[in-house]
Amino acid sequence: MDSCRGVRTAVIVGAGVAGLTAATALARDGWQVEIAETTATGPAETASGTSGWGLCLTGPSLRALDELGLADACLAEGYGMSTITHVDVDGEPAGEVRLPRLIGARRPAMAGIARPVLHGILYAEAERCGVVVRHGVTVAAVDQEQEGELVRVQLSDGTVRKVALLVGADGIRSSVRGLLGLGTSPGILDFHGQMVWRALVPRPRWATGVHQFAGKADTAGLVPLSDRQAYVFLTENGVERSVLPDTELAPRLRQLLGAFPGRGKEIRSLVSASESVVRRPVLTALVDGAWNRGNGVVIGDAAHAPAPHMASGAALAVEDGLVLARELGRHESVGAGLRAFVGRRTRRCRTLVETSVAIVGLEQAQRHNEAYALVDSCHRLMAEPA
Ligand SMILES: Cc1cc2nc3c(=O)[nH]c(=O)nc-3n(C[C@H](O)[C@H](O)[C@H](O)COP(=O)(O)OP(=O)(O)OC[C@H]3O[C@@H](n4cnc5c(N)ncnc54)[C@H](O)[C@@H]3O)c2cc1C
Repeated sequence: MDSCRGVRTAVIVGAGVAGLTAATALARDGWQVEIAETTATGPAETASGTSGWGLCLTGPSLRALDELGLADACLAEGYGMSTITHVDVDGEPAGEVRLPRLIGARRPAMAGIARPVLHGILYAEAERCGVVVRHGVTVAAVDQEQEGELVRVQLSDGTVRKVALLVGADGIRSSVRGLLGLGTSPGILDFHGQMVWRALVPRPRWATGVHQFAGKADTAGLVPLSDRQAYVFLTENGVERSVLPDTELAPRLRQLLGAFPGRGKEIRSLVSASESVVRRPVLTALVDGAWNRGNGVVIGDAAHAPAPHMASGAALAVEDGLVLARELGRHESVGAGLRAFVGRRTRRCRTLVETSVAIVGLEQAQRHNEAYALVDSCHRLMAEPA
């Protein structure tokens, strides 16, 4: 039988934020979990497969990580903060937003953290809970028809698993999404005429929260990651999707930052080595309709990838992992658990993706104040329980 109370074996594809948190939550509920991860080695490489150097863990991320008992580790290794400072196109302060402290008044509202550090924390906890992570493998085929109540998953190294649950946590370009027939990849990906830049820099002493600078053409900012490090972000508007040679990255980012007054310009001098600079297209994805078929489901960016402007994709990914385990624990069958999971998550995730796209539009129209207001109202919405 496919009952959650019967066979409790799962294959999760992808050891990113969504896959690792789902694996930990399921393993703690007694599931036997194996992760198939395409990168060759451990968390440092897995983290580098995603974009940029660091992440801002907003209140909902910290709240979900706290439920897993991991928020304090993230705060200890990252940089806790509670304010976003907005600066206008003339370099003048345009307001300071104090974010709600969702994990209690004594702990910060959010944290900046280096991606490899976050992945290391999540990875260690998954392994501690008995999750097996297999590197250098992906999923080659999925068959739900022939195997009764189990899913037959064929991996790229030829091994076959017959499991009660298949979870696609394989990111915005998900293969599992296609194998389950949920939306057509790559047609599901939308490019929004922006390229985002990230550069790892030393943390200036004044950067004790997130700083965001409106520019005449682009937007930029700074997020502390630790006492010593921060990352610079810049969003370039109205550009074609293109790849620049690595040697051009740092000089070009410095040039773009040069257009900002005040502290915006000051951070230009922090961008040094080209190896620390990445540039990526702003892409979003949203599965239209159900994210599940039979005993398979997609979660995290594979189901709903927002533009990075709300800094909340990881929050949705961690919440997905928690809610998935909770709903499977509440229902007799995997199919019913997955339907309940998708029912609970669709509206929140769709709202976030659509709001992030609206923010992109406002930035491109240079309507920064409206963009800030939309970001703030969406943060308040996200503060509601998942
Ligand atoms: C520039 C940028 C900045 C961002 N900043 C923030 C931020 O500050 N805060 C925030 O909350 N969110 C941010 N996000 C969003 C956040 O990074 C994602 O929402 C989050 O990483 C999604 O997690 P995931 O596990 O679903 O996917 P991913 O992190 O993409 O992980 C997918 C995993 O699956 C693996 N994989 C892929 N394909 C396969 C396959 N076929 N087989 C096996 N394994 C596979 C990958 O190697 C990876 O390990 C940002 C995104 C971008 C692009």
